[in-house]
Amino acid sequence: MGIAIESLHKSYKNGDEITEVLKNVNLTVSDGEFVAIIGPSGSGKTTLMNIIGCLDRPTRGKYLLAGQDTGKLNDRMLAKIRNKHIGFVFQSFNLLPQYTALENVELAGLYGNEPPRKVKEKAKEALSALGLENRLKYKPNQLSGGQKQRVAIARAIINSPSVILADEPTGSLDSKTGREVLDIFKDLNRKGKTVIIVTHDLNIAREANRILNIKDGIVEEA
Ligand code: ADP
Ligand code: ADP
Repeated sequence: MGIAIESLHKSYKNGDEITEVLKNVNLTVSDGEFVAIIGPSGSGKTTLMNIIGCLDRPTRGKYLLAGQDTGKLNDRMLAKIRNKHIGFVFQSFNLLPQYTALENVELAGLYGNEPPRKVKEKAKEALSALGLENRLKYKPNQLSGGQKQRVAIARAIINSPSVILADEPTGSLDSKTGREVLDIFKDLNRKGKTVIIVTHDLNIAREANRILNIKDGIVEEA
């Protein structure tokens, strides 16, 4: 059922000033697609990702996720479908520094519906599948950038989301490590996940099946 966006607008209000960040976006993303979003700084990429990820709502227009009209959901229901369908990965990893790799993934897993023991087992499996079986007890500051991003990916997939949203996931990594992280997203996509990635790096964008270009709040197929 994927993602369907119709006549979507997003404005921010600062005092008397209204900035229209997204202008009449129409977009569908089918299940299993791998989409790259490119565009200059300030063009609205993160705003669009936040709306797709149900962290924010449009000012006008419609957004359907997995067949549900998110405009008809209250904040609690919106958070619920976010936890069920969406996994987030960020440029700066956003791991909790006081917790180990395993705990970071487990904490996210506890938002699912499984008992803690099962969550721990799944977290270990997810981290091991990403080559981190020897880093479970390490804290973020003891991990390299690539390792931190792999922990963040394990955290993003622990509740089996259908859609993975990654905002500049390679932006803090050197190009070799960035490639390795990209290969993880490609692999997840081959296994059926929808992947949407914001990137400044055209070499990364070219690996996607589809490139969207945002300029001044207008989204076009590239
Ligand atoms: P935000 O959405 O937070 O405003 P941007 O999308 O503008 O941030 O940029 C995300 C990150 O990418 C920033 O930390 C920025 O330093 C970095 N960045 C911006 N332009 C480039 C570029 N041409 N190449 C690589 N990284 C870039
Ligand atoms: P990008 O990710 O392409 O760099 P963003 O979506 O982060 O772009 O931002 C698009 C525009 O929206 C920018 O001009 C930014 O200043 C503005 N903006 C983003 N978030 C807010 C906010 N919460 N309040 C007001 N303006 C915002």
